[in-house]
Amino acid sequence: MKRILKLKLHWQIFIAMIIGTITGIIFQSVYSGKPEGVVFTIIISIGTIFIRLLRMVIVPLVFTSITAGVASVGSGKALGRLTVKSFSYYIVTSLIAIIIGLVLANLLKPGVGAHIPVSGAFNKDSLQAPNSPLDILIDTIPTNPVEAMVRFDMMGIIFFSIMLGYGITKVKPEIGEPVKQLFNSGFDIMMAITESIIKLAPLGVFGLITKAVSTAGIDLFKDLALYILTVSAGLTIHLFIVMPAVIFILTGYNPYLHFKAMWPMIITAFTTSSSNATLPVTMQCVEKNVGVSNKISSFVLPLGATVNMNGTALYECAGVIFISQVLGLHLTVSQQIIIVLTALLAAIGCAGIPAAGVVMIFVVTQAVGFKDADVALIIGTMLAVDRPLDMYRTVLNVFGDSVGAVVVAKSEGETNFYQNIK
Ligand code: ASP
Repeated sequence: MKRILKLKLHWQIFIAMIIGTITGIIFQSVYSGKPEGVVFTIIISIGTIFIRLLRMVIVPLVFTSITAGVASVGSGKALGRLTVKSFSYYIVTSLIAIIIGLVLANLLKPGVGAHIPVSGAFNKDSLQAPNSPLDILIDTIPTNPVEAMVRFDMMGIIFFSIMLGYGITKVKPEIGEPVKQLFNSGFDIMMAITESIIKLAPLGVFGLITKAVSTAGIDLFKDLALYILTVSAGLTIHLFIVMPAVIFILTGYNPYLHFKAMWPMIITAFTTSSSNATLPVTMQCVEKNVGVSNKISSFVLPLGATVNMNGTALYECAGVIFISQVLGLHLTVSQQIIIVLTALLAAIGCAGIPAAGVVMIFVVTQAVGFKDADVALIIGTMLAVDRPLDMYRTVLNVFGDSVGAVVVAKSEGETNFYQNIK
């Protein structure tokens, strides 16, 4: 035990994942997917505590980091440049992801002949359809910033923080400077808290993995194997081919170093299925392990965690084509183009929380005019097998954010990355 505690954190997390998987398999086979008992309750509570601790720092972290980040970016021009660069990166990489999903779903045809054992008892009202793409954009403006924080409305918080940071740069220095300092200090304190929470990651990961493995309903996974395979193949291509190529071409660094630097983030995303919950870890890894400045990371990462979701974008597109194949519908070229564009918007509007991507599929199906009732039944089935896909696409979502931070930082003249990574 002492030996394990002396290991580096990322090894501890890795070992915790393996022990969690084995424990999960044992619970799965003993209780056939419906585990119970005191030991099980304690183990999953550990996972829940870890997620709650991470969620606890998110709102103050995003609020202080974006405000301080925007305030220190300074003039409107520099801010505009950062915004344009970040959004260009988000949109281009998301579109690449979507095209991968489109091509694979058309080639492998996972929905043709898929056996969807939907139970008649499925209640379609339990899936709430989100707003239209335009409403998603309008809703980013919070009518009450405090309410946005209370409701965990990330887009609203980001929007207000950007405005606040911008406001700080617009007033006289003697008024703006102290406020900027306050937000800088607040951000440093939040990062210090995050650092302590991350030390608990091995325990949290153990609890979360045990729960995920022990409660998986195995049979449905077999029926939807080709669908799961198609999405996973797309995510794998994007994560292990596209992303490393982006790192190499745009920054010149060895992509392997980036994977190594981001390991705690990758595992946290995998086990929490939440970009938001992973954000504190992402920021820690990008600043400490990669060496990106606080100025860039505190702007690009919270924004990315909310709007840049390569994995979800790919999933939205592949998922809708899967649905169309199950329904036996033939998609025209213009419908496929609508799917690509709305998948992008759905991913941007998707919350960084577990399973949010499945519900956002409604945005895309509505845009191409599928009937809600049919679609709801299929999406319900997709939801049942979604957890492992969600874990994987969340990894890609946050990985894309971290790459974005390095790409933007490099383009702003920052160098000497990965000095702490051997
Ligand atoms: N769980 C994903 C995330 O937090 C969103 C999704 O469901 O696609 O990034």
